[in-house]
Amino acid sequence: MGKVGFGLAVSCAAATCAIAAILVGKRVRSRRKWRRVVGVLRDLEEACETSVGRLRQVVDAMAVEMHAGLASEGGSKLKMLLTFVDKLPNGSERGKYYALDLGGTNFRVLQIQLGGKTSSILSCDVERQPIPQDLMTSTSEDLFDFIASSLKQFVEREAQNSEFSPVKRRELGFTFSFPVKQTSVSSGILIKWTKRFSVKDMVGKDVSECLQHAMTRNGLDMRVAVLVNDTVGTLALGHYNDPDTVAAVIIGTGTNACYLERTDAIIKCQGLLTTSGGMVVNMEWGNFWSSHLPRTSYDIDLDGDSPNPNDQGFEKMISGMYLGDIVRRVILRMSQESDIFGPVSSRLSMPFILSTPSMADMHADESPELMEVARILKEDLQIPDVPLKVRKLVVKVCDVVTRRAARLAAAGIVGILKKIGRDGSGGVASGRSRGSDGKMRRTVVAMDGSLYTRYTMFKEYLHEALCEILGEEVAQYVILKVTEDGSGIGAALLAASHSSHSSSSSSSSSSSSSSVVDSQRLP
Ligand code: ADP
Ligand code: MG
Repeated sequence: MGKVGFGLAVSCAAATCAIAAILVGKRVRSRRKWRRVVGVLRDLEEACETSVGRLRQVVDAMAVEMHAGLASEGGSKLKMLLTFVDKLPNGSERGKYYALDLGGTNFRVLQIQLGGKTSSILSCDVERQPIPQDLMTSTSEDLFDFIASSLKQFVEREAQNSEFSPVKRRELGFTFSFPVKQTSVSSGILIKWTKRFSVKDMVGKDVSECLQHAMTRNGLDMRVAVLVNDTVGTLALGHYNDPDTVAAVIIGTGTNACYLERTDAIIKCQGLLTTSGGMVVNMEWGNFWSSHLPRTSYDIDLDGDSPNPNDQGFEKMISGMYLGDIVRRVILRMSQESDIFGPVSSRLSMPFILSTPSMADMHADESPELMEVARILKEDLQIPDVPLKVRKLVVKVCDVVTRRAARLAAAGIVGILKKIGRDGSGGVASGRSRGSDGKMRRTVVAMDGSLYTRYTMFKEYLHEALCEILGEEVAQYVILKVTEDGSGIGAALLAASHSSHSSSSSSSSSSSSSSVVDSQRLP
């Protein structure tokens, strides 16, 4: 071989070595990046840990906070608001009743015809209407005139199509899902607006009075028989369908729960008397907090960026408004740690750009190539062309966030059951879990909210955790029943059970035939 040939061979070998070194280096770097991203996932999993031991601590904390909230005003982050609802519909109600459901972008009016024990709900007509944006921030008169005139038109249309003519004054259940300090079953003062409402002159005013005056102004003769929130409506409908229903839980955009409490346990209102010996308590459980809740740096950031820091801590880990945003924050961290998602998409820094339904769709993607995950990453977050293993990682993040939410919600439910002695602690033989005949009692919880009703994995994780915490034997007596539209129908049913026409309407009435909570069923 001549000198030239030798030189060529040496250069070729050197080039090959250099290329190999670059390739190896690249592979090492890419492995290192992948390890960093997997590290983010591992840290998330660890911080979201919800072993059954930890869930039991959350159960205990919930029961303790419930006691504290019932003991004194401001005694706990749980407000434990009195509702003055001391009787729940039981199926014997008769007649025609109305409901008005205000709490979101739409408001609903409905009318039901009740046929008593055997026939139950004979008919139900519902009408939905959006609230014009400008009315959400105008005056109480403008807002309630709009609502009352829509209600009047509904009543007139429905009267045209019906052969019944009302002989008695019409009665209405008003579901108003904002924080209210209740002063009686049919009246309450607005504490503050939430969501997108901000009708300043209404804060501190009686909500029913505002509606009642607007109805009078609009020439509609109707009485507000009850003022409730959506969880109480859900409990009412649940109890109407199944008298073993003792609590209601809503997990949708936000989350809340209410349950039937013994009046003697409501220490902050000593001397409170009800015929039934019970009252529905609105927990406002979205604001629950405990050091046992598994909190991550993402939760801390989300809370800090929110308009209500240090408020609604439980809700921020559980409900539909937030889950998608927690996942977005994790993907942003991963994307900043390495370039496995390509250059950091500016979309990832936009709060709430990833909705919970989109997150649920990614979680549920069972296609071999995870095409739905690819589509949502591309369309919602402007992250195109990520490899399959990265898409799998995204599904895992959704799983961790949803599993924690569902398991914490389950712990919250068992907390309620523990407070009312229905968690079977001490085994199935324990005190109030058994009826007077010594048989184990069924305990039904009415459930609503789209996160629970439409997100299959969420529901499955919740049920699984409920079984783990309670144990199989007790869990078979605890039934979670989907109870949709309680916020509308339930309010109309409560108007019926609190009707001034009904024999059981007076709280001093001893008649128990129609709707007084059966005292034997009290927890
Ligand atoms: P609201 O709580 O506003 O009265 P819903 O109970 O219908 O109404 O809950 C709506 C919330 O539920 C949405 O904000 C969304 O976060 C969540 N959601 C709706 N559909 C789904 C779905 N298919 N999967 C997961 N979450 C959903
Ligand atoms: Mg709702």
